[in-house]
Amino acid sequence: MYKACPYCNALNLKNEVYCSRCGLKIKKEISLSFAFLIAGVVFYIPANLFPILQTNKFFVSYVNTIIDGIFELMDDGDYPIALIVFLASVLIPIYLLFSIKFKKCKFLKFKYKLYEFVSISGPWSLLDIFVVVVLSVLIHSENIFVLPREGAFYFLIMVICTMLSSKFLDIDLLGEECGD
Ligand SMILES: [Zn+2]
Repeated sequence: MYKACPYCNALNLKNEVYCSRCGLKIKKEISLSFAFLIAGVVFYIPANLFPILQTNKFFVSYVNTIIDGIFELMDDGDYPIALIVFLASVLIPIYLLFSIKFKKCKFLKFKYKLYEFVSISGPWSLLDIFVVVVLSVLIHSENIFVLPREGAFYFLIMVICTMLSSKFLDIDLLGEECGD
């Protein structure tokens, strides 16, 4: 029921936010992690609906979404990268959205591993953005040029949000919330 203050060692009630002796904040916020996660999921929708890339070729313009990009990576034989982009930018955000809403405390360890995966794979899914930027800089002839589109912007925000979310996550805090 009691928890020692990490600054002055005074015993406080477990749910106390501020230490009764030194007044410092002793209860860490788990909500910050979830706030970034929800923000990431919100941006997930336009990131996948809007095109991330526009190619203008001989006065005809093509637009590409993330899903198109995954299929193109597979066509090029880049299966590992296609899989990482698919997991990090399509599958995991959907799973995380549902896991916040339901059974928050079940599969705690598994969920933590998933957060770890997101924080590791996050920079990899930024490859999409790098590719768009590099293409738009390199390909700039009279007949062909490539432009980033609004989806790339939403995607970038989504990736940053998921990375911040896993950065603020603390497995001990999750355990505490769930009464372990
Ligand atoms: Zn204290």
